[in-house]
Amino acid sequence: MNLLIMGPPGAGKGTQAERMVKEMQITHISTGDMFRAAIANGTEMGMKAKEYMDKGALVPDEVVIGMVKDRLQEDDCKEGFLLDGFPRTVEQAVALDETLKDLNINLDAVINIEVPLDKLMARLTGRRVCKSCGASYHVIFNPPAEEGKCNSCGGELYQRDDDNEQSVGTRLNAYMEKTQPLIDYYKEKGILKPINGDQEIDKVLEEVLAAVK
Ligand SMILES: [Zn+2]
Repeated sequence: MNLLIMGPPGAGKGTQAERMVKEMQITHISTGDMFRAAIANGTEMGMKAKEYMDKGALVPDEVVIGMVKDRLQEDDCKEGFLLDGFPRTVEQAVALDETLKDLNINLDAVINIEVPLDKLMARLTGRRVCKSCGASYHVIFNPPAEEGKCNSCGGELYQRDDDNEQSVGTRLNAYMEKTQPLIDYYKEKGILKPINGDQEIDKVLEEVLAAVK
């Protein structure tokens, strides 16, 4: 099974990706890990990527796709893979399709974890951090015993600037705007599997497994 996973910040994509690869015994290809490995192994594409990164520049699509192509040809991808963090644009999706065609690999499904905007907002703005020791809490998922107070040191809990509604809203809107064309692209290809991410983690996994059966 060859899959791709997408989902907005706060949708729990990382957790689901981890569970999926374990359950389905396929290889997790996250772009971040792939970059680090390609650079550490000194591959041609890895060295090219490093050149751009050292300059603080964005790694061009053809280098990223080159790395994905190298990665997909490794042995551990033969039994299936889950691509995570790539593609991010329709242009990259088109390039990925060409690469997969070259390699004679079929993309079976695109898992899109969906969570309503207000729920994402609540998840992403709920983080609280201790001023004294840096311990992290969440008002919904991991609340402190006493509101506003750190369990371990009694310090005052505060909300970081990038966790406030405005910053989170900007981040989510940017994601939606950039990603919608990509979602439409895979929908038109008939391989998009929308998954309700607004339920228990186990239920989400069940829905994913049913969708790709
Ligand atoms: Zn503390």
